[in-house]
Amino acid sequence: MSIAKGLPEGFNPSAYDAIVVGAGYAGAVCARRLAEACGYKVAVLERRDHIAGNAYDYYDEAGILVHKYGPHIYHTYNERVNQYLSRFTDWVDYQHKVLANIHGTLMPVPFNHTSLKLAFGEEKGEHLYQKLVAAFGQDKKVPIMELRAKNDPELAEVADYVYENVFLHYTMKQWGKTPDQIDPAVMGRVPVFVGDDDRYFPQAPFQGMPKDGYTAMFDRMLNHDLISVFTGVDARDILQMGGTSVKVCGQPFGGEVIYTGALDELFGMDLGALPYRTVDMVFETLPVDQFQPVGTVNYTVSENFTRITEFKNMTGQVVPGKTTIMREYSRTYLPGMGETPYYVINEPQNIELYRRYLERVSGVLNFHVVGRLAEYRYYDMDGVVASALELSDEIIGNH
Ligand code: FAD
Ligand code: UDP
Repeated sequence: MSIAKGLPEGFNPSAYDAIVVGAGYAGAVCARRLAEACGYKVAVLERRDHIAGNAYDYYDEAGILVHKYGPHIYHTYNERVNQYLSRFTDWVDYQHKVLANIHGTLMPVPFNHTSLKLAFGEEKGEHLYQKLVAAFGQDKKVPIMELRAKNDPELAEVADYVYENVFLHYTMKQWGKTPDQIDPAVMGRVPVFVGDDDRYFPQAPFQGMPKDGYTAMFDRMLNHDLISVFTGVDARDILQMGGTSVKVCGQPFGGEVIYTGALDELFGMDLGALPYRTVDMVFETLPVDQFQPVGTVNYTVSENFTRITEFKNMTGQVVPGKTTIMREYSRTYLPGMGETPYYVINEPQNIELYRRYLERVSGVLNFHVVGRLAEYRYYDMDGVVASALELSDEIIGNH
């Protein structure tokens, strides 16, 4: 692999069999697979000054490994994804735990057996727990909206408590809307857990942190003789979309183009901007060994930030006497201002707008869209890797 800043003088796209836009999971997985399976010469264009997309991590001034674009915890049920990524990293066992700060008491989220007893007291909490077990079964995940739909007055009491103290205010901060106003699948990501497992991703068989960090894993994935990475390059400056073809640097390009950025940006948002939420990540290094007991504490009833992450608690890094934490402030993304579009807003009119942009590229057979931005989907890392493996299977199959 080579990594260069900017495109070289006289960059010649026809020297490459594939051009990949974006060096996050979607781009890196596709680049590696096309280089390996097809022997393609691949140019990866990344507009940031680093690889790894939103999973990028680095050592801050205090020497602490931090995640620049928000806390990233690897977890998956997908064995193929796990096997693929495991080629490029060893894993450190890390089981993510989140506590909600509810009026000063820290309770596990997803809300579980322990949380019930903390919220309602030992005896009543146990009684309510047994009712949940009777209604849903042991070790079951129950979306809050499903729990709210139950008629039983005691279950309604639990549902009201959890809705009010875990979901309502946090969701207002995160999305600017109440849980009833947004896609139920979003709340479904953090169901009530009828059991004792106090991990954030209960039951996920593969969880962990890449041993040397995410950026190091990407470095290995992109480290291939046939892959050249160019950072600080905005592909919009050199890509032109036609009805059935794509031009690169003004020349028709016959190789594969894999695009992992936002589709509206590619067209100057001429049909309108796709809406997103963005997050202001505010880092602070404190002169203490440890700030909070777990990786992340969600502020579900107070504060104007959503959560605080303490990186050492996630990575296991030992740095005595100091620790770096990060607060997340969610807000509306302002298109065209150089901000990061973090979260898609899954509403029918937005999906329809996305579909209209997608239609414009669907006639260009060598142009492929993949990833959280390009597919306009609320994907976790494993979902993006799965999608990139599928797309590259297809391209490899047609090779
Ligand atoms: P990205 O990582 O966004 O990569 C796309 C790349 O393309 C970027 O580097 C971008 O700069 C580049 N690009 C875009 N347009 C252009 C252009 N015109 N020219 C050149 N380059 C361009 N997932 C989990 O599994 N666990 C978690 O704990 C987790 N936590 C998260 C926390 C936050 C706050 C956020 C926002 C996401 C989190 N995710 C998590 C999701 C995870 O970040 C994504 O699923 C994954 O990083 C998406 O990979 P991607 O390649 O699709 O996109
Ligand atoms: N959520 C909440 N309270 C919590 C945790 C999550 O209301 O303590 C809701 C909120 O709407 C959030 C969604 O559930 O956006 C999904 O949470 P998740 O932790 O999966 O979000 P991410 O890590 O992707 O930001």
